[in-house]
Amino acid sequence: MNNRHLFLSHLAQTTDFPLMIEIDRAEGVFLYGPDGSRYLDLISGIGVSNVGHRHPKVLEAIQRQLDKYLHLMVYGEYVQQPQTQLAQALVGTLPEPLDNVYLVNSGSEAVEGALKLAKRYTNRREVICCENAYHGSSHGALSVGGNEQFKRAYRPLVPGIRQIHYGAAEHLDQITEDTAAIIIETIQGEAGVRVADPDYFRELRTKCTETGTLLILDEIQAGFGRTGTFWAFEQMGIQPDILVCAKGMGGGMPIGAFISSREIMGALKSKPLLGHITTFGGHPVSAAASLATIQLIHDEQLTATVAEKADLFKRLLVHPKILGIRNQGLMMALVFESFEVLKPIIDRCIANGVITDWFLFCDNAMRIAPPLTISEEEIAFACDKLLQSIGE
Ligand code: PMP
Repeated sequence: MNNRHLFLSHLAQTTDFPLMIEIDRAEGVFLYGPDGSRYLDLISGIGVSNVGHRHPKVLEAIQRQLDKYLHLMVYGEYVQQPQTQLAQALVGTLPEPLDNVYLVNSGSEAVEGALKLAKRYTNRREVICCENAYHGSSHGALSVGGNEQFKRAYRPLVPGIRQIHYGAAEHLDQITEDTAAIIIETIQGEAGVRVADPDYFRELRTKCTETGTLLILDEIQAGFGRTGTFWAFEQMGIQPDILVCAKGMGGGMPIGAFISSREIMGALKSKPLLGHITTFGGHPVSAAASLATIQLIHDEQLTATVAEKADLFKRLLVHPKILGIRNQGLMMALVFESFEVLKPIIDRCIANGVITDWFLFCDNAMRIAPPLTISEEEIAFACDKLLQSIGE
């Protein structure tokens, strides 16, 4: 049996249209197949490889930690330098009073922690979320997801959750003194890159402050430089009470976090109630990789060229079949008429050596979110192949 057959027979598969590309090696913006085929990665493993694949600085940090220790103890018991240094570096990217970091393994887990924290701190039970939001696949994260089709089969989910339209200021009066938290993506990713107005976010912030509701911003997809600032909320003129991040955070290693002020985080202390526990959260190897990732986003000034690179994509990607482009920095969606039009184009792109796909809740838009390290030549190459694929 070859690898493709083994993939289909023994690996659980819940994707309707897996891309089915076999990858042997990755480096920078390129993935390589076992037969020597080369693909330019325009999706970064869904917003993960912001610093490119196997960045030497990340590999070095991983190797250094491998020589010291792997897992030692459940999270929060031993003093582990990779965790303390990472927390310090993360806090350095954030405004006051966001100075307390809880490290987990993934985006979904960060969301779970944030929701629990909001309930403990406010002693309220109601949570508001947005239509077409994606916050993860675990039960709590799914409960605040905004797509009924994804949720239906798993009901009853977490109770007390209400949905509003992302970006619609007229819905903000649904946030009241009974609301523990609103969870919202700064930029909606799986909805196909929807960007609400800074005015909306300012009104949202005011409403939360007035009612004592915690604002949870999900920057799992939009964080770590993807939109041209380290955090996307910097462009909205607001700040969250709780921030959740993951994906790009580990430079290719699994790690996530929910971050708040020491005062709010203090509500999650154990006795007499159980706090929040994770065995592997903040794994030292992932934490070391994450620290290196943050340092090199700063050192290589990766956010400085994001807007220029996005503009280059927009200038080059002109074709009658591309009906529009939505973007915030290098988080981009190319709109086509339908999935039926888009799917064969994606297949042709892959055949032509460029990897892209669509979005969970928006199947007529092509996802473009390359490593931030992509060069202008590589962008020109990718756009050329993309236009060629549309023509075919
Ligand atoms: N929130 C957002 C905005 C995401 O895009 C994702 C993953 N696509 C998640 C949460 C869940 O993250 P994970 O898959 O690491 O659990």
